[in-house]
Amino acid sequence: MSGLVLAGGGHSHALVLRRWAMRPSTRPSELITLVSRTSTALYSGMVPGLIAGIYQHNKVAVDLRDLAEQAGVALVVAEITGLDLQNQMLQLDQRPALPYRRLSLNLGAETSTIPAPTSNLVPIKPLEPALAFLADQDQLMVDPAFASSSFQVVGSGLAAVETVLALRQRWPMRPVVLRIRPKHLNPVLIRALREASIQILETSELRPTEELKTAPGLVCTGSRAPDWLASTGLPCCPSSGRIRTETNLQVIQHPGIFAAGDCAVIDAHPRAPSGVWAVRAAAPLAQNLEAACQEGPLKRWRPQRQALQLLGGFNNGQPTAWALRGSRLIGPHPLLWHLKAAIDARFMAMFQRNRCMDSTEAMACRGCAAKLAAGPLESALQQAGIANLGTDPEDAAVLPLNTASGNAPVLQSVDGFPALVSDPWLNGRLTALHACSDLWACGARVLAAQAVVTLPQTTAFTQETLLAQTLAGIRSALDPQGAQLIGGHTLEARDGQPQAPISRSVQVTLSVSGQPEAMLWPKAGLQAGDRLLLSRPLGTGVLFAAALAGAAPASALDTALEQMGTSQHVLLEELLDLETELPAAIHAATDITGFGLLGHLGEMLRNPSLNVVLNGPEIPALPKALFLLEQGYASSLAPGNRRAWALLDNGDVDLQLAGIDLGSKQHQALLELLVDPQTCGPLLISVDSPIAQTLTSAPNSPWTDIGGVQAR
Ligand SMILES: Cc1cc2nc3c(=O)[nH]c(=O)nc-3n(C[C@H](O)[C@H](O)[C@H](O)COP(=O)(O)OP(=O)(O)OC[C@H]3O[C@@H](n4cnc5c(N)ncnc54)[C@H](O)[C@@H]3O)c2cc1C
Repeated sequence: MSGLVLAGGGHSHALVLRRWAMRPSTRPSELITLVSRTSTALYSGMVPGLIAGIYQHNKVAVDLRDLAEQAGVALVVAEITGLDLQNQMLQLDQRPALPYRRLSLNLGAETSTIPAPTSNLVPIKPLEPALAFLADQDQLMVDPAFASSSFQVVGSGLAAVETVLALRQRWPMRPVVLRIRPKHLNPVLIRALREASIQILETSELRPTEELKTAPGLVCTGSRAPDWLASTGLPCCPSSGRIRTETNLQVIQHPGIFAAGDCAVIDAHPRAPSGVWAVRAAAPLAQNLEAACQEGPLKRWRPQRQALQLLGGFNNGQPTAWALRGSRLIGPHPLLWHLKAAIDARFMAMFQRNRCMDSTEAMACRGCAAKLAAGPLESALQQAGIANLGTDPEDAAVLPLNTASGNAPVLQSVDGFPALVSDPWLNGRLTALHACSDLWACGARVLAAQAVVTLPQTTAFTQETLLAQTLAGIRSALDPQGAQLIGGHTLEARDGQPQAPISRSVQVTLSVSGQPEAMLWPKAGLQAGDRLLLSRPLGTGVLFAAALAGAAPASALDTALEQMGTSQHVLLEELLDLETELPAAIHAATDITGFGLLGHLGEMLRNPSLNVVLNGPEIPALPKALFLLEQGYASSLAPGNRRAWALLDNGDVDLQLAGIDLGSKQHQALLELLVDPQTCGPLLISVDSPIAQTLTSAPNSPWTDIGGVQAR
């Protein structure tokens, strides 16, 4: 049984994942984890079209999160910083290393020449920062002086040619210079570049002319494997830094490690780094990973000597292409572009969800959306006699201790849910942040926590990995607050064979305790004239529901996860500071979780002499949340939460929603947003109008004024 880690989400690994999504029986059992610095991977063949502006980012990016989900593989979005061969650990930035039994490397390459930091040059690889640099240039182009200044591309290879032609398409009027080494480019391509009004400077690639010294530009001077690989102890090619492998893609003298794509080279059949070989290596890599995990025999692979390459370009604004095989170049011809465009579209279509890849499992939302709806909960609490004890049971409750000694009361809260994400570290962190927010919403600092972690039935190695990562994730949320993980328990699940990815079967429950600095913030302390402030946008429930159907855009989930993974204890500290100056400034507070904004706001509306008016257009939503709600996506907890809509149309009005046309599409989507269950959701506070003004107008304030409280 292996603990297989796939490092890097390159072309080879994307196709390995696709194979396991299409044919789950071929996927090795046990935990498989893909580590990638981004949740999407760009398809190299369409990158020039992306630079040219003829393709949108989402059309050329493989959604690794969705693909991994379909393949039953856990996804960790993190930067790999090194490899500890002796202890079999993949080292990651800002989080604990990941142990592996078998490792596969598909990390691509970086531009071989690192420009001087003082220059205005950016390497084309890695692609994401280069694309961000071009987007910045677009912003500056509004200044006519800037728009007429030169942009340079340094490099004499095909990537440089494709890039410079794409830039001509992107900026038809801007002077663009290509700096090449003398006699390094095919005359046919030079002619095409001149026709496209690209100035060609035959010069040393590294030494700019005086006039171009400060000109912004991209460096496309060939590639080499990421530098850190050289210090790992793996055998690397001295000139290119690429990891040397056997013909079966196993790293030489390292039977547990495989490598493919630009970061690797087969010793016996070296090929130039190119997306074509990374793609073709995928099938033999997948088969050999599967065989290795079962201790079976590995197959050799011999790539063809040459591959046909289609080089895209533009002629007078029209797309065209050349065909290149070895040293033979044909074109340019528009038909070759159509051929290239069709091949590229077919490649990307392989990663669209289809019926074979789609899970037949009924959609049941996870995270805080896996809670019981308010209706059955209340009824059960009443049956158990818990709702009739005099005080309503609270999320965070004051422990019935003897406080006669004058000590501040001790608060306790418990929370947890089935894993929302397949990354056990991130899941531990999110669950801990979610559990802490009940205390923060009472004005209490978290002091300590205990965890109950339920692990799937699997190998001891995997259980150990999952538990260690989960606990490290919990600590990453507690440590910065000065809170301690003081104990807990583990359980092994008894619900049969877990589904892949096995890390989704981890379940974390946390009991957190803490103390308020001064007064506890009540839930129902609203006062007439108060403003209601929300600390972050809503929409995590619908985004993760849509993700189950493969309909949530990767960038929207990235934004949601970044928000959810940001601790709100910093906001608590700011509010406590405010209360030091202005005691009792916070009249009421809660956190928005499973019942959605309306459900939790409803718990605040206990004073019949008050009326709350929400300003509909001001209620913040995460990117794409309203769009997905309009499309009909909703969390599986949303139907149970919709009973809170009654607060809005009860004749005896407690709550009004203003500023939105009744019955409009936006109105319907907003109503759904108001009952969307939130994991790591916002804090909601009720404060005097001047304090609201101070909080919302502070630089980079997270607070949004969403409505006000009036006397009836
Ligand atoms: C402008 C341009 C145009 C090109 N056009 C073509 C073309 O038309 N056809 C062609 O065959 N080739 C083309 N290439 C070359 C092609 O981009 C590469 O050969 C190809 O991308 C290599 O694929 P790969 O799978 O090895 O790695 P990549 O596609 O580079 O993928 C590597 C992945 O690993 C991730 N990663 C890397 N380091 C880390 C880390 N430390 N931590 C976490 N994740 C990491 C990256 O984010 C990336 O997702 C072009 C290159 C450029 C620059």
